[in-house]
Amino acid sequence: MLEAVQNCPMCASDRHYPRFKDVPDFVFHATDERWTVEQCEACESLFLAERPVPASIGRYYERYYTHADQDASAAISGISVQSGLAKKLANSWRNHKYGSRRPSLGALGVAIVGATPPLRGWIEAECRHLPVQPAGAAPLRVLDVGHGDARFLRFVREIGYQAAGVEIDPKAVAQAKSDGLDVHQGDIDSALQIWGEASFDFITLSHVIEHVHEPRHVIAVANRLLRPSGRLWIECPNPASNGIKRYGMHWRDLDPPRHICIPSFKALRDIAAETGIVVEKRHSRPFVPFEVYPFSARASGQSGKSGYLAAARAEITNSLANGPREWQTITFRKAS
Ligand SMILES: [Zn+2]
Repeated sequence: MLEAVQNCPMCASDRHYPRFKDVPDFVFHATDERWTVEQCEACESLFLAERPVPASIGRYYERYYTHADQDASAAISGISVQSGLAKKLANSWRNHKYGSRRPSLGALGVAIVGATPPLRGWIEAECRHLPVQPAGAAPLRVLDVGHGDARFLRFVREIGYQAAGVEIDPKAVAQAKSDGLDVHQGDIDSALQIWGEASFDFITLSHVIEHVHEPRHVIAVANRLLRPSGRLWIECPNPASNGIKRYGMHWRDLDPPRHICIPSFKALRDIAAETGIVVEKRHSRPFVPFEVYPFSARASGQSGKSGYLAAARAEITNSLANGPREWQTITFRKAS
């Protein structure tokens, strides 16, 4: 069942226009339905003109919840590290910064990552810009909303922080539970019921906000879950990215009907500010075009190779001119 959306889910404006019409589900092929993606004239967020109601959204995820299937999960989010060398480089930095003890290249790896800002930017983003606690300070209490395969929560636990999570997909929850993690099936409202107000120092919404029916509500609840001075970390696609300009309706991160609303930076900033949290830092995560463009190129009838070339050009341009990033990666901070 579908419901029509009259007002922008982010800023509530009724001024919007159809940016893309007749868009198929070209990412997971869960449906033959076609979708219209509106763009808000006030805040420039993108959203579905007609969207599945919460009770019927599940069926569009049947092919999405395949956490054991590496190929399928790579299409969702997060840059999978295939090469052993890249993994060891990343581990070198993690061990150096957070005190984990993963197989690494040691001091050489730290030196290489330290001298290569894009590498460092990528690894820092993988660690979700988690703050480092001063020696002797209490461990941070971290909540991951929509924890998926719980890779991040395992890392959080590994470095001695307290890890908690909620996730809609029962299989993912069962998997994380069997690994001893403090996770529950549910959404951010469930988290509030379970742990209560002011329970966390750090909350992450990694590729979650674009999937929810009420993004404003999610941000408001995140604020309630945070302790004073706590941080909220959000990552989601960027409706002002170069990818959407290049690939239009075939831009992978349009992903209808799972991406219900892709918020603009302005909308995220303003709504967070209304609830009392301000932008602390807008990060730049490199290399995302390599994940998004080849898929988008193939979806629009071009070769995957042309996508890789476009990604390489976008990375170079972005690093020289600080252009719009493919994803928005933002740390917000609550007032003390
Ligand atoms: Zn808007």
